[in-house]
This record gives sequence, structure tokens and C-alpha cells, in this order.
Amino acid sequence: MSTIKPEDFFKNIISHCKEYGFIFQSSEIYDGLSAVYDYGQMGAELKKNIRDYWWKAMVQIHENIVGIDAAIFMHPTTWKASGHVDAFNDPLIDNKDSKKRYRADVLIEEHVAKIEDKINKEVEKAAKRFENFDADMFRSTNARVKEYQDKIDSINIRFKMALNANNLDEVKQIILDLEIVCPISGTKNWTDVRQFNLMFNTSTGAVTDESNIIYLRPETAQGIFVNYLNVQKTGRMKLPFGIAQTGKAFRNEIVARQFIFRMREFEQMEMQFFVKPGTEMDWYEYWKKARLNWHLSLGLGAEKYRYHDHLKLAHYANAACDIEHQFPFGFKELEGIHSRTDFDLKQHQEFSGKKLQYFDSETNESYVPYVVETSVGLDRLFLSVLASSLKEEALEGGDSRTVLNLPPALAPYKAAVFPLVKKDGLPELAESIMKDLKFDFMVAYDEKDTVGKRYRRQDAIGTPFCITVDHQSLEDKTVTIRHRDTMKQDRVAIADLHKILTEKTSINSLLRAL
Ligand code: ATP
Repeated sequence: MSTIKPEDFFKNIISHCKEYGFIFQSSEIYDGLSAVYDYGQMGAELKKNIRDYWWKAMVQIHENIVGIDAAIFMHPTTWKASGHVDAFNDPLIDNKDSKKRYRADVLIEEHVAKIEDKINKEVEKAAKRFENFDADMFRSTNARVKEYQDKIDSINIRFKMALNANNLDEVKQIILDLEIVCPISGTKNWTDVRQFNLMFNTSTGAVTDESNIIYLRPETAQGIFVNYLNVQKTGRMKLPFGIAQTGKAFRNEIVARQFIFRMREFEQMEMQFFVKPGTEMDWYEYWKKARLNWHLSLGLGAEKYRYHDHLKLAHYANAACDIEHQFPFGFKELEGIHSRTDFDLKQHQEFSGKKLQYFDSETNESYVPYVVETSVGLDRLFLSVLASSLKEEALEGGDSRTVLNLPPALAPYKAAVFPLVKKDGLPELAESIMKDLKFDFMVAYDEKDTVGKRYRRQDAIGTPFCITVDHQSLEDKTVTIRHRDTMKQDRVAIADLHKILTEKTSINSLLRAL
């Protein structure tokens, strides 16, 4: 894949997803609905496995974290209290010539990313010429890197000040000063910057008026906050403790491009960790590391992840950072770790008139806990896993294969069982192996075409093991097991298959490595 352009690779991912039943456009027969996607038969399995791994890593292995499943609809005052009605906005700007709409902050961030690229190129160039690199070259490289870095710093500072002061004229001025052009029209003919609320709303009951407007939740977190006391009391939870949940969230994104990276309906996996005030920064650091380790455990490559501290803190946070992943279109946010203080619980306390405190029996005092949140998008995670796993490999003899090197624990099928030929009792033996395995593993059965073609089909959907039943199997109760990544084959006893698949493909194997 190294010679393929990133945009072409991204197109390959999208068509691979469709061709092999991972992701389809929503309501495709009606030409689709913008930024909404459906997961197909392979995608639903992969997504479920990612969700299961997250759930087990957050809930099952932590005695002090429990999971809930709150409703999508919530009392509308929830969103007034959380600040979403007044402040869940994105700054948007239109180009008057192309009539295309952009997020002003994204235009500026992309400009900064281009300067960062220049720095990386300088450093790469210097590294290549390392052997005959003299002092003059060193000085001039250094000067250029410093100049770029200064530019980035000054843009970032100016942008942060503009956002904090909610000064939208200044945001526009930054875009003009940086001479940012619309990628479609190539012009700098911009409208003013305006704020746009991202929440979808609908109404309950038969009468539609202002009083029965309800929102589709834009994040799952608030379902946790409003249930904090229910869970704490009924679960007799002691600080520090966490509440986790996975579920759909909805945002009327202005620019919804990049496939499942930015959708209008998506799934979040969030955990709010309630802590004693004053200990939140330690827990913030703890969860930053723990969550990065979780991503690294997938084995997609440590170089694909980095932290990015937030320049502008959300209205509720006293520290925030993203774990970014290197998507085919660059490093972008995958997960957010936020120290949310006691903002949300205090707001809900005020708006509901109900006390949301914790009685600390060690100190005999009551207080509102602080919260550290981890929030990851399941669909973005799916894209990161899929994009890092899809490979086009050259084989001996000029042939090639498309393979998804998915972490085996996440693969939709753990194994595929093939009878070598459709006669001599081989299908019967293959089916009986399949029957034994299917209660514990997702297993595919395939008897069409040559074994080579069947291998290719399984490679393309990421099945880690192909089990072939041949004539020898009838005699000695052994089969060949072919490994997806190395394409090597071993002969193993049928009786050992269950153990091999458990060892190599269970989510527990990932959990133990955490
Ligand atoms: P971005 O800056 O990319 O819009 P955000 O900072 O608004 O994201 P959060 O509110 O922190 O995102 O949401 C937590 C996580 O939910 C994100 O890290 C991301 O993985 C996921 N997420 C947010 N918005 C979307 C979306 N429109 N489509 C898919 N996933 C999303």
C-alpha cells in the first residue's frame, strides 16, 4: 500500500467495506442519507466485538466500575443544565463562491496541520542527510523549524483567545489573515462566522408546540450524570467509582464528510469516573495512560497514536486531551479524556433541586464529586481498526491478495471450516467440526470453489484461521489450520481446535495484556 495515495487508499477502504458487507450507506436504494451509515453482516460483528472489548476492559475487570443503559430521550431540562442548549455550537463559515459550508475551527486547524507537515519534512530531510550534515545546514534547518513553530504558536494563541472571548469576527479575521482559501472554489470570499447548535430536536405526544420539544441526546454522558445517585445508592458505590455506557448519540454536524469518521448518528462509549475533589488530576493522568494502553493493546502500531492537549477547554472542563489516531486523512481525534470537575452534577443539582452529593464516611462530610470522563466514538474506532488492518500484499509468482489483519479477538469470524472436496464424507466431517465450534465461536463454512479462492475470501474479511478437512482427516482425526497473516499451515488434532481458537482469538487474550 505504500505507493498508493492516501485519498485512493481511503476510497479503497470505503469500497472494501461495501463489497464485503461491513458498511452500507443508509437507505442506499433511495440514494442514501448524508452522513448516516448502516453496518452490514460483517460490520455488525466487528463493531460488537470492539464494543465488547471496551465493556470488558472498563466494566468487567474493574470492581469499581458498573455499566448502565440510559434512554436516548431525556427530560429537556437536562440539556439546559448541561449547557448544550446554549453552548453546544460549532462556528460555521460559508464560501460565497462555492456555496460550501465549513467549520471555521477546522479550517484553521487544517492550516496549522499543513505547517506541522512542513516541520516534519524538514526533520526527515535532515535525518536523511545525517552523515554529511554540517554545522551550516544544521543552523538553517533549525532556523526554518523554529520559524514554522513560532507561526503555529502564534496562530494557536490568537485562535484560543478568539474562541475564549467568543469573538467570531476575530475568528474570521484569522482565516483572512492566514489567506485560507476554499478547497472547492479556491477563493477567499468568506461570509461572517456564525454559531450553529448541533442538537437535533423532535417532539413528544400528539400536540406539537414549544413545551414538548425533546432532544436526541448529543452525548451519552448526561444519562450517566442524571443516574449518578441512583447507581451510587443502589450499588452502594464508594468513591472513586465509575459508570460506563455505550449507545447512540446524534449531532447535526455541519461538515459531515470522511465516511464514518463524522456521522450525524453515531455510537459513543463513555465512562464517568467519580472522584474526591482534589484528586481529579491524578485520575485524569491515570485514565489518559490507561486508555492509550487499551488502544495500543490492539497491536495496530504505537506510532499511529498521539496525545493532543486541548487549546480551548469546553465549558465544563479543567483539563482535556484527545487520543489521536493516524487515519488515512491524517492524525484526528479518536477519544477524549476530560476532567469535567463538578460542573455537570452541580448544574443538575441546581436545575432539578435535588441534592447530588456523596457522603464520605471517612471524613464525615458531604460533597459533590468531581468527574474524569473517557469518551470514545465506536464508529471512529471501527474506522481506525479497519484502516490500519487493510493491506494489499504482493505474493510470490506475481499474484497479490487483499487481507484484513484484524486483531483476531475482533475479527467477525474466528475461523472458517472447509471440506477439501464436496464428497467422500469430507463435508460431513467439516460440518460436525463446525457444529462443535459454533457454540463458542463465530465460524463460517465454505465448500465452494478452490481452497485458494476460499482462503482469499476469508482473508478479505479478516478471518484469522481457516480449517481444512481432507482425506487424512478421516483417518487420523487431524486437519490443517492455516494462519491468515503468515499463510503458514499446521496439522493439528481436531480435538485441539477449541483450545487453539480460545487461546488465539478470545477477548480475554487482549484483556490479560492490559
Ligand atoms: P470533534 O472535535 O471531532 O467534533 P468532539 O470533540 O466534538 O469531536 P466529543 O464531544 O469529545 O467529540 O465526543 C467524544 C467522541 O465521540 C469523539 O472522540 C469521537 O470519537 C466521537 N464522535 C464525536 N462526534 C462524532 C461524530 N459526529 N461521528 C462519529 N463519532 C463522533
